[in-house]
Amino acid sequence: VDNNVLFEFGVSDSKPLLFSFGVLFNCMLDSAEKLERLSSTLKGKVVTDADILRTFSKDMSPVKGDALAVVRPSSAEDVLATVQWAVEHLVPLVGRGGGSSLEGESVPMNGAVVIDFSSMDRILELDEENLSVMVEPGVVNRALNRFLFDKGLFFPPNPGSWEMSTIGGNAATNAAGPRSFKYGSMRNWVNGVEVVLGTAEKTWFGTRTRKSSSGLDMVRLLVGSEGTLGLFTKLLVRLAPIPAKRVGVIVPLEDVDTATKAVVKLTHTPSLNISALEFVDKECLDALNKVQSASLPESGAALMVEVETEPEEADQKLSSFLSVLSDFKLAGEPLYEDNVDAMWDLRGRITLSLEKLYGQRYREDVAVPITAFPELVRGVKQIFMDKQVNVVVFGHAGDGNLHLEFSYDQLEKDKLNSLLAELFALTVGLNGTITGEHGIGLLKLPYLGLEHSGASLGAMRRIKKALDPYNILNPGKAY
Ligand SMILES: Cc1cc2nc3c(=O)[nH]c(=O)nc-3n(C[C@H](O)[C@H](O)[C@H](O)COP(=O)(O)OP(=O)(O)OC[C@H]3O[C@@H](n4cnc5c(N)ncnc54)[C@H](O)[C@@H]3O)c2cc1C
Repeated sequence: VDNNVLFEFGVSDSKPLLFSFGVLFNCMLDSAEKLERLSSTLKGKVVTDADILRTFSKDMSPVKGDALAVVRPSSAEDVLATVQWAVEHLVPLVGRGGGSSLEGESVPMNGAVVIDFSSMDRILELDEENLSVMVEPGVVNRALNRFLFDKGLFFPPNPGSWEMSTIGGNAATNAAGPRSFKYGSMRNWVNGVEVVLGTAEKTWFGTRTRKSSSGLDMVRLLVGSEGTLGLFTKLLVRLAPIPAKRVGVIVPLEDVDTATKAVVKLTHTPSLNISALEFVDKECLDALNKVQSASLPESGAALMVEVETEPEEADQKLSSFLSVLSDFKLAGEPLYEDNVDAMWDLRGRITLSLEKLYGQRYREDVAVPITAFPELVRGVKQIFMDKQVNVVVFGHAGDGNLHLEFSYDQLEKDKLNSLLAELFALTVGLNGTITGEHGIGLLKLPYLGLEHSGASLGAMRRIKKALDPYNILNPGKAY
């Protein structure tokens, strides 16, 4: 906790000075006494069982933390009470949805208390005519889409983790997925949020209208802030009508270089109405065939593509799609998949399949403007070849978003750090970003300065101080 905050409040105003003495007194209580006070407010909702704390002390990254307790709120009032308690006792809090983050975002450090939103999972209010739904943060992405299916609607951002990740966690990381090629990431789909700020105030930001020029756009600021500015207690998200027909195509190509060039060409042909454009290398295909018993081509690389079309135009759309690809040598017949969600489920299992084969892996996620994508992939392969480390590449290629994975347990720390520094320098040199969608969390913090100037980071940290003056919300993460 940033002790300067106490000092600043003490010198500026006499009321906060008294408050600060109260906080100082509370800080001297031991952890058990602090938790007892929380438990007396939130009866039956504060968990300290050692096995549960162990589970909630990690996410899907290699980072390990140490939760002091897990709180299971069932309402916004419970969340507000928890934040009030945390402010009074200067205890850090970490919000948690599905715990699927990959950069340590949801890992509690230094004895933080985890707020597990999984019990706040109600779909509150569907507005079919205005294409929106109000949900609690713990609603799982896939469950929301199952609920919407009968109504002919869907919620477009579909991260590979959609079976386990939540709308609150998706919003906090500005998650994206294969269909973000057409539909964009969470920032395009969250219209409003009820939030508890680090000031222990519950408020609402946003609008039910399609557009608004009223005030600062706090929703877009909070989305992607990794739970460092406020905790979502409700989200109003936009919906889209399910397209008349979706067709999945898997196109085998000779090698990764051909695949990335084909991606660029496809992104320049909007008439194809492609909604998702992914690429995978040979090792991904092999891993899915072995671990998931899939029947994917054994080519050097492949594209996984979703095309939206009217049913009667499907044949013509697919033949236009193949004719755009005629400059590139295919390594076999394209496979067509009518059950497109099954194709995305398979695609979403790449990471877990690689982990099953090779153990826990280091996972990276960088993005560049689309025309630089082939150069990025070539550069990445070169960096890893020079260091004699085997790397697997895949990703949301249509967005210029590359995922790469490698085994790191045999790597010396210096070698790992220099690999990462070279990777991010290459990406930023191509006008890219060090994370397309996974976020910064803890693992990417050391590299933020490569992408953002000191003045930009200073502005972000001053915003943090305004919305979370006691530095209790996921401290030490994101920026
Ligand atoms: C197999 C696999 C595939 C993946 N594929 C993708 C992908 O395609 N695209 C992508 O973008 N990501 C992907 N990810 C990363 C991850 O799933 C996403 O970041 C996801 O959005 C996290 O959601 P979650 O509910 O699991 O959040 P958590 O991991 O629980 O939390 C993530 C962050 O959100 C904060 N948070 C959680 N709930 C709240 C709340 N109510 N209010 C405020 N902050 C909150 C946490 O404090 C933390 O900072 C993948 C991960 C895995 C394991």
